[in-house]
Formats: sequence, structure tokens, C-alpha cells
Amino acid sequence: MSAVGYPFSAIVGLADLRLALLLNAVSPAIGGVLVRGEKGTAKSTMVRALAALLPEVDVVAGCRFACDPAQPDPACPDGPHEASAPYETRRARLVELPVGATEDRLVGSLDLERALTEGVKAYEPGLLAAAHRGVLYVDEVNLLHDHLVDLLLDAAAMGICHVEREGVSVRHAARFLLVGTMNPEEGELRPQLLDRFGLTVEVRASRDPGERAEVVRRRLAYEADPAGFAARWREADEELARRIADARALLPRVELPDTELERIARVCAAFEVDGLRADLVTARAAIALAAWHGRDRVTADDVRQAALLALPHRRRRNPFDAPGLDPETLDEALGEPDPDPEPPAGGPGGQDGDRAEGSADHSADHSAEQGADHGAEQGAAPPPGPGAAEQAPVKPGEPFRARLLSVPGVGSGRAGRRSRAETSYGRTVRARRPVQPVTRLHLTGTLRAAAPHQVARGRAPGGGLVLRREDLREAVREGREGNLVLFVVDASGSMGARQRMRAVKGAVLSLLLDAYQRRDKVGLVTFRGSGAEIVLQPTSSVDVAAARLETLPTGGRTPLAAGLLTAHKVLYHEHLRDPRRRPLLVVVTDGRATHGPDPVGEARRAARLLAARRVAGVVVDCETGPVRLGLAQRLAADLGALALRLDELAADALAGLVRGIKDPRDSRRAA
Ligand SMILES: [Zn+2]
Repeated sequence: MSAVGYPFSAIVGLADLRLALLLNAVSPAIGGVLVRGEKGTAKSTMVRALAALLPEVDVVAGCRFACDPAQPDPACPDGPHEASAPYETRRARLVELPVGATEDRLVGSLDLERALTEGVKAYEPGLLAAAHRGVLYVDEVNLLHDHLVDLLLDAAAMGICHVEREGVSVRHAARFLLVGTMNPEEGELRPQLLDRFGLTVEVRASRDPGERAEVVRRRLAYEADPAGFAARWREADEELARRIADARALLPRVELPDTELERIARVCAAFEVDGLRADLVTARAAIALAAWHGRDRVTADDVRQAALLALPHRRRRNPFDAPGLDPETLDEALGEPDPDPEPPAGGPGGQDGDRAEGSADHSADHSAEQGADHGAEQGAAPPPGPGAAEQAPVKPGEPFRARLLSVPGVGSGRAGRRSRAETSYGRTVRARRPVQPVTRLHLTGTLRAAAPHQVARGRAPGGGLVLRREDLREAVREGREGNLVLFVVDASGSMGARQRMRAVKGAVLSLLLDAYQRRDKVGLVTFRGSGAEIVLQPTSSVDVAAARLETLPTGGRTPLAAGLLTAHKVLYHEHLRDPRRRPLLVVVTDGRATHGPDPVGEARRAARLLAARRVAGVVVDCETGPVRLGLAQRLAADLGALALRLDELAADALAGLVRGIKDPRDSRRAA
């Protein structure tokens, strides 16, 4: 990597991201940017280049917490600083938080051993301290542990980093511009976390050949001569930096007229965003926009642009809905409020004219909806789509809250909400001798270890406990991990009528929703006709799995063995990739096998192969009707798996009655 960074001004395209970053540079109170988009766009380059444009900062010399000499942090662990303390002027920093970072790396680490045995409060600052008064950049924020995301966003919201270990605590200022990126194909962020980012932008590589060629041309020029390239763009970057500084100075004088404030409230109400954060962020972004354009008054256009950046991620209702703003609704909400509720002058003619413009769209929407409803109610085939060769795919049934299926034992995988796992947070379950320096002390365990030695160590009557390093015990904590939930779904004709396939798809969709909430990875293997297919390689993107399920074709013979062997292969590859993530195999079948020379024998051998690898499994028995063969039960026995009937998958029998009242997770379906 070159020491000379790529100049901000030289980046082609990405206008939305450019604006979002500049607005945050002008007004950090906006609360950062979440960048959504595919890999291979210049989003990282642009974020890194931004730091060079930020105004320089004065910091107290030698302070590891970047105290401002004009206003040092009274709680600064390196303080207190004298008013006359020497200071230095340096660039605002860009700090990158790697996805695999530990909690100590993020918030800093307290040396508990020294604190307890020597009485010294030794604190090593983390990345939050380093990012204070600069930019904190988290590439692939959606892959960060839940626990770290919570710490990060708490610090971002409060402007303070607080570390506490067993009663020893340190706090310091941590105000930074937070920029996160994510590839939505690798999994969405929880809606609560989406809301914590001020603005979002969607980026994609340009489809314009001229623009693409220019991107490559500049990249090559930069790589050939970084210093020369940067020199050619220096003036443009300096101009941007000046403009940021001017806008910052203007910001406190920008006026937000009541008409514009009301416009913001109307837009936020129209998109049914939760809480008032959306209104606040939109207002701040609109004010920053005015300042950026050198105006001291917010205009309707500022509000429109601010809404486009501040609202798309706040109106999601369902994890399977893509974020975005409907431009028609936006324009409608942005328009001047009608002071007169009666139709405007011009009479019915004017109204008809209005209606005619949108009528084609509206009636099309309506009939499509009706069609879907009929299909759902009667199990009738919806109108064939472009890809419907043999039979239109069966729509999934209404999803329900699924019961918790988990992997037995205690794992050590990434944080999640499914199976028990040893974690760095959560409930303390026991004490043990530390393997590394202690960060989580088990106090009673430590005292118990020290107690027998007190006489030998010469503890005076009435004196304090004599504690040695070897007495220290660390707490072992237990929380939950996410798993890989691999679905193996029988999509053959043996699964019977469309009505039953609808129930099966509904059940799998329910389990997918559950997997989304528990932060699992999911994969989907189906088998029908002459073989099995990996419909979805393991991914965190449950949305994609749900979409593939919807269009899944069904019918044909039942190659059960092929389905199980394909699952075995997928699990083997995933184990190599991520050995700590424990799999849960969910086989959805009636247990029948009808393809191949020895279909039943082959299926049993495949099942035993999986059993030998000790894969935790659940067989969802889809057999219905008065005469039952119990084949799925036998498959479960061969797999060493739990067997459940389709109707036993719901969290409880009463779920249907209390749903929407007691379970807050169901609020997403209220809309
Ligand atoms: Zn300081």
C-alpha cells in the first residue's frame, strides 16, 4: 500500500456517498454513514480519502486520548492536563475497526492483574480512543459481533467510551465520525442498528462504459505514480477541505424555517418511521446541506435531499423488505400542505386529470394483489411468470414463530442467539485458572484460591488479604452462538398436493425468519427428479434464501440419498471455511425415497454417513393422511436426529392467539 492516499476529488461517480460523507464532515452530529453495496466499488477508497479533507486538530502533546488543549477531557486517563500544557497540531485520524476485533481491542484493556496485585490502574487505550476526533471506519459492519456493535454504537451515541472490569473502571471521550459498509448479500443489519446510523447510501459500480473506463484510467495513473497523481489533485482536495471548514463555520447560523421543519415532519410521518430520530437526522442533514451550499437558510430542496439520505433504512418493516424510498410517496409528502381540504379549483375535471396520470399503475397493482390473494386462498396457480416452464411455483404459507431448535453441547462459535456457547460476555458459569492475562476476574474463585495460603504468607490478624498473581481466577461465561442451519427440502412429487407444499414452504419460511433473528447462516439444498441441487450456498443473507424458496419448483421423483449426500458435501466445505460454526441440519421430508436402483438403502447409508460426522439434526416429518408409513421417523433414527411433525414446529400451540400482543418480534408483521 502506498503512503500517498488516493485523492478524494479523483474518485469518479458515487455522488450520494460523496455528499453523505461531506455532510457528516460538516456536521458530525448527523451520526455517520452506512454504505450499502457490492464489493469492488471505490467505497473504501472514498472513506479513507475523506480523512485528509477534515480540518486538522490540536491535541495535548503526549495525551493518548487526543485531548483538545482548549477543552481537555476532565476524565482523561492521561490527565489532568495543565492549561499551559504543550500541544501539537495534526491531521484528523482514520481508524479502521477490523471485523475480527476483540472487545479489548475496541474499548481498550485494563490490566486487572496489576490493578489487584500492585494497585496500579494500567489502561491500554483501544480503537475508540484512537478514533476520537477522527473517523472510525468499519468495513463489513454487518459481520461484526452483536456485542461489539452494541459497544460501538453506545460509544458513538454518548461520545464516551466506558470500560469496566470487576469494579475497576475507566472512561474517556470518544467522539468520531462513524462510517460502516456492508454488502447486503451477506446479511442485513438488525433494524435497531440500521436506525443508529445517521445516513445510508446505496452504491453500485457505474454501468456507463465511459465512466468505468475513466475509473480504470485514474487507478492506473495513481498506481504508476502515486505522488504525481496526488499532486495533480491536490488543489481540488484543498478546495474541498476549505469548503468543509467554511461550512462548519456557517453551520451555527443556518436557520431552519418552520415551513421546512413541518415538511420534514410530514415526510417522516408519510414513511412511518419509528421514533423521532429520523426527523432529527433529516433536520441536521438539511441544515448541513444549506451550510455546504453557503446558504444560511434551509430550502425545500435541502429537505428532499436530506430525506433521501436519512430515511431509506428507517422504514423497513420486515427483514425481507429491501430498503428504499418510493419516489411518489416522497414527492407527495414533500409537496406544500393543502390548506383547503376541499378539491382545488378546476372541479372534477382537474381531479380526473390527476387520477388519469397514475391510473394505469394503480389498477395494475390492484389486480396483481387480487390475483395473489386468490392464489393464496384457494391454492390455485397464480398467473405463470416468465420462468414457469412446467408448473408455477407454490407460494409459501403464512409464517409462524418457530420453536427453538438448537445444537446440543457448548460451542465456541460467533455470537448469535441459537445454541449454548462459551463467550466473552453473558452469564458467568464457573471459574478457572486463566490461560491469558485476566480480563474477567472471578472474584469468589480468586478469594477461595488465596484463602488457604494466608497463614503461610504471613497475613497479620486484621490485615488485608495477601493476594498473589497465581491466585487469580477468570470467569468462564456462557452466552449463545449462531449456527449454520442447512435446510434439505424434499421438493418432489411425493410431497403431494400443492396445499401441502404450501404448508412445507411456510414452515421453512418460518424457520428462515427464526434464523435471521438468531443470526445464523443458512443454506438450502433441495432434491427432486433425478438429483439434488444446492439452491443456496451457506450465507447470512436470509432474504435471498426466502426469495429462492418462493420460486422453488416442485414435482418429480424423490432422490433422498442425493439430497443427504449433497448436504454432507456442503457441511464438509463449510467446516473447512469456518470450523467453529456448528451446523444444524434440518431435513424436511416425508421420508420417502423413490429414485435410483436401491433408493431406500442408499438413503439410509447417506444418513449414517452424516450421523458418523455427529451432525446435529432435525427431521421435519411431512407425512400426512390416515395411513402413515413412519419413514421420516426411521430416517431421524438413522441420522441420530430429532423428529418433529410439521405442526410441532410452532413455538407453542397458542402462538396464533397471542401473536402480535406478546411477542414484540411480530410487530414487523403489523404493517
Ligand atoms: Zn488527555
